[in-house]
Amino acid sequence: MPVPKATVRACFPTSDIEALSGIRPHNSLDRQLEEAMLLLDNTKRDQARACKRKNYWISERDLKPTQGSTSLRYGSVWHSAQEGFYKHIMKYGWTRDGKAIVKAVSAAKLEWNVQNEKQTYYDDYRTLENCLRALILYVAHFNHDEGMLKITSVERVFKIKMQCETEREAKAFPRVHKAGGFWFTGRLDVGVELDSRPWDVEHKTTGEALSKQKQRLHRSPQNIGYFYAARKISKEPPEGCLISLHHLSAYKSRTTGLYGDAKIDFDRVPEIYTDDDVEEWRLSLMSTAEEILFEQERQIWPKDGDCYRYGQCPYTALCQQNAPLGQEILEGYFVDPWEVTKTVPAKEVIVA
Ligand code: SF4
Repeated sequence: MPVPKATVRACFPTSDIEALSGIRPHNSLDRQLEEAMLLLDNTKRDQARACKRKNYWISERDLKPTQGSTSLRYGSVWHSAQEGFYKHIMKYGWTRDGKAIVKAVSAAKLEWNVQNEKQTYYDDYRTLENCLRALILYVAHFNHDEGMLKITSVERVFKIKMQCETEREAKAFPRVHKAGGFWFTGRLDVGVELDSRPWDVEHKTTGEALSKQKQRLHRSPQNIGYFYAARKISKEPPEGCLISLHHLSAYKSRTTGLYGDAKIDFDRVPEIYTDDDVEEWRLSLMSTAEEILFEQERQIWPKDGDCYRYGQCPYTALCQQNAPLGQEILEGYFVDPWEVTKTVPAKEVIVA
């Protein structure tokens, strides 16, 4: 039977936990309590909002299906290519020697291999070749960036302490308050200066029409969360988020079953948020954290998801067993703990 993660926190006396939000020197007990606090990133937040049981499989049990998602693999490889490209530009400027593209290609290949080592995939048009083709087209599409965009940061990993800020919040989120708060974690893709003003750039890949995806991403909690983080950890708060969209799709022939040439497209959309937007997002995140802490306590993790809404949920094979928690047959799944703050050396994590 797996040990619930909340048990770690329960080992500390309530008085010590409550003292965390008071004024006293930062001692080793405080540090231990902080270590045991819930870590919540944008993806875990989405999972918890979509289905508590899904959040349990992924965040509490660290389970991944052996059959991976082709679209998530493509998204990871695209992100790595962008990281390689912009890291080079940040260090050496907008050179025209092609080395930034070389860096991007090797980062993409490396990530492709990492993804394929862990999981198996049904291959389709979302291939490494199409990703590299898209990369060349991306550089050409945004060739006016040279001289217009200054790259100031790439892939900043953050860990921000979220706490109840008023008595009303402490009453509304008693578990969050009792735990001394929780950590909002994540990774900001690229920081840029555009017309001398800072912006946070986030990369997204999609198979949907860009116009539809733009509507969907408008006021997306994920991006407001990134904006919140960028405001917290940057010397100069950003104006907003620039969402860099990459579309990739292909038609499958009914007669041959093969995919035709991939359609590749790009867009970049500015999103600006008000203080009220950010405050509402913060309260929503606090609310999600409260619900997760509640589930950690009672160990129910209700199956409240829409299992087939966006294709089949990858955890249906576990849920359909209706086994007591911890007694499922895990065939088709493997344990793979992942936390964004562990993906870089501790000294590179920006704590706020
Ligand atoms: S199969 Fe359904 S109930 Fe189970 S985790 Fe997925 S969405 Fe939730």
